[in-house]
Amino acid sequence: MHKNILEVQDLKKYFPLSGKQVKAVDGVSFSLEEGTTLGIVGESGSGKSTIARLILKLIEPTSGKVDFLGESLYDLPQKELRTLRSNMQMIFQNPYLSLFPHLSIGDNIEQPFIINRLGNDSVRREKVLELMDLVGVSKDYYHAFPHELSGGQQQRVGIARALALNPKLIICDEPVSSLDVSIQAQILNLLEKLQKDRNLSYIFIAHNLAVVEHISKKVAVMYLGKFVECADTAELYNNPLHPYTKALLEAVPSLEADGGKAFEAIYGEIPSPLNPPKGCRFCTRCKYAKPECLSVEPEYREVNPGHFVACHLV
Ligand code: SF4
Repeated sequence: MHKNILEVQDLKKYFPLSGKQVKAVDGVSFSLEEGTTLGIVGESGSGKSTIARLILKLIEPTSGKVDFLGESLYDLPQKELRTLRSNMQMIFQNPYLSLFPHLSIGDNIEQPFIINRLGNDSVRREKVLELMDLVGVSKDYYHAFPHELSGGQQQRVGIARALALNPKLIICDEPVSSLDVSIQAQILNLLEKLQKDRNLSYIFIAHNLAVVEHISKKVAVMYLGKFVECADTAELYNNPLHPYTKALLEAVPSLEADGGKAFEAIYGEIPSPLNPPKGCRFCTRCKYAKPECLSVEPEYREVNPGHFVACHLV
């Protein structure tokens, strides 16, 4: 039996804009079991990256609660928060932009040790070489600069840096979407191997359901600041209930598909979170919408054990 490493309750983040509120994240709750992956899938503008920034406390929430390793993240004093945060790291969508371009690969990976004043020069160098070996980057690149590496190698460096402080949770924010399809599987395999070897927990953010299928124990589908469906991976892919999830699955048959095309099969564009539709937020694009959907917001509820969905049809 796994224990929960992360519990998120009714998390909200509203950004003020022109006298209104942009409800980027609007009441999201979930838990993450230790050593497992929760995939969060949604279009750009759905709020999934805002969830990542809220969990890392890079931005303040409007309301809600995040418990990490049994501690309430938003109630901790600064010093304890710093210690706890070294257990959470992030891997970014664009590996090149996430690295310091003027620092060598070795120096980039060494940064977490320097910032946290860990080890002397020779100990840190040894650790950096170990990490490079762990993620499959040749030691020959120790003195190279990020621009001299391929996108896949840059992402491996980003992963090495994220692993430096031995975190328990890594938030992977679209870590393969900027990479060639042939490289994506290699990075996913590396992340899976690291998870097994180090009992890592991941939140894996993607806009493509195919990308998260193999790595995730649970998958949540997000739309305009809310989860619309969440279930164990096999249940979600074999028995999708929300029309949006079904459309996403129809649109993305495999990892080979271009993730950018994933949403073409869904009519229209995601509405602005500044003016979300009344009733069900998906009603402007849903081919099953009925009058009730335009005025009454569907409740997000458990319809099968562990399977949550928000839709009047279900
Ligand atoms: Fe479609 Fe209505 Fe279900 Fe929303 S509640 S997804 S509009 S059927």
